[in-house]
Amino acid sequence: MIRYSEEIIDEVRQNNDVVDVVGQYVHLTRKGRNYFGLCPFHNEKSPSFSVSPDRQIFHCFGCGVGGNVYTFLMKIEGIGFKEAVEQLAERANIQLPTLENSADAAKEELKAKVYKINEFTAEFYHQNLYKPTAKSGQEYVKKRKLTNETLETFRIGFSGRFDELYKALKAQGFAEKEILESGLVIKNDRGYIDMYRNRLIIPICDVRGRVIAFGGRVLDDSKPKYINSPENVVYSKGRHLFGLNVAKNDCKKKLIIVEGYMDVISLHQRGITNVVAALGTALTEQQGWLLRKSTEQVILGFDADGAGQTAIARSMEILQKMGCDMRVLQIEGAKDPDEFIVKYGEGRFKLAVDNAISLVEFKVKNLKKDINIENASDKIKFLNEIAKILAKVDNTIEREIYIEKIAKKYNI
Ligand SMILES: [Zn+2]
Repeated sequence: MIRYSEEIIDEVRQNNDVVDVVGQYVHLTRKGRNYFGLCPFHNEKSPSFSVSPDRQIFHCFGCGVGGNVYTFLMKIEGIGFKEAVEQLAERANIQLPTLENSADAAKEELKAKVYKINEFTAEFYHQNLYKPTAKSGQEYVKKRKLTNETLETFRIGFSGRFDELYKALKAQGFAEKEILESGLVIKNDRGYIDMYRNRLIIPICDVRGRVIAFGGRVLDDSKPKYINSPENVVYSKGRHLFGLNVAKNDCKKKLIIVEGYMDVISLHQRGITNVVAALGTALTEQQGWLLRKSTEQVILGFDADGAGQTAIARSMEILQKMGCDMRVLQIEGAKDPDEFIVKYGEGRFKLAVDNAISLVEFKVKNLKKDINIENASDKIKFLNEIAKILAKVDNTIEREIYIEKIAKKYNI
C-alpha cells in the first residue's frame, strides 16, 4: 500500500486553499470573516454552508457536515483519501513521492535512523552538561540563571571534544553513512570530527517532540556565535518553530513568537509558556501556517532593533495573507522580550501581551516616528496616510474603533 508522509499531506493541504477548492463547486459569498453558500450535500434554499479561510475548514449548519479540504473533496467527489491527496497535489503542482520504489523505502529507513541518532545525541549532550568537563557550560547556565527544571524541559546540553560523539554513536552501532547524514559529525582528510565542540547545545524538536536538529552556542568569543544543524532527511529550515512541542498545550488563545531560542527558554522559565522562536530571521510561509493552525492570535515579539522591526513587517505580510489575527508586542525600555521580563517581571510582561497592538496601530505608530505633528503640513500628510491604512480595513465596526483609538492617542 502507498502511504504518504504526514509532511507531504500537510504541504498539499496548505497549498490548496479550502475557499478556492470549495469555490469550484459552490458559489460562495463573503460575510465578515467567512464565506457562505448553498450546501452541496443537502437541499436548501438559504445558505447555511460556511467556509472559514482562517481555520481552513467548512461546516454546514443545516446538515452538520464539515471538515477540511480533504474531507470536502472526498465527499463531493466520492473518492478515498489517497485519491484526494493525489488530486490536490496535482492541483498545486506538488510532486508526490511514492513509497513503492526501493529508493524511497531506503530514504524512510535512513530517516528513522537519523531520528534515533538525534535522540541519542540529545541525551548524550544533556548528560555531558553535568560532568566536570563541562565547566564553561555550567558557568553559562548559572549566569543565565537557568534552573534544573528548565535544563530538563529543553534538554539543554554540552558538546564534548574532538570525536567524542562520533565514538559514542559508533559504539551504539550506527553506520558511518547514517552518522554523516545527521550532520552531527563531519569527515575531513584527518578523519571524523564532531560538528559541535565545547558548545552549549539546544535540541530543536518538531511539534511531536522528536529531535530534528541542534543549535550550538559558543561559550567564549569565537565565531560564529551560533551554529545550527544543516538540512537533512529529517530537518528542513523554515518548516518548524522552536519550542512548539513545549508550548502546544498552552497556546490555543495566544502564541508569542520571538527571535531566538534563548528568549523562548528564558521566558518559559519565568512563567510565559506560550512562546516559540522562528529559528532564523524571517518567518516563512510554512511557519505562518504552523502558527495559524496552533493559535487564535499570534503575538509578534521580535527585538526592538532595526532587524527585528523589519522581521515584524515581513512576518505581518505573510500572516495577513493567511487571515491570521496578529498583534505586535511593545517592549519599551528593553532591547528584547527576554530583557524586558528580567527587568520588569512576569506581571508587566503579561500586561504587555494583553496590550499588544494591532497591525493598523503598528503601521500608524511607525508613520508617526518621522512626523512632527505640530507642523501643519506634516500633520496633513500624517492624516492622509492614516486614511489610506484605515481604508484597507474591511469591517466597518473595526474601522470605527480604530478611528476612535487613533484620534484619542494622537490627539487628532
Ligand atoms: Zn448541508
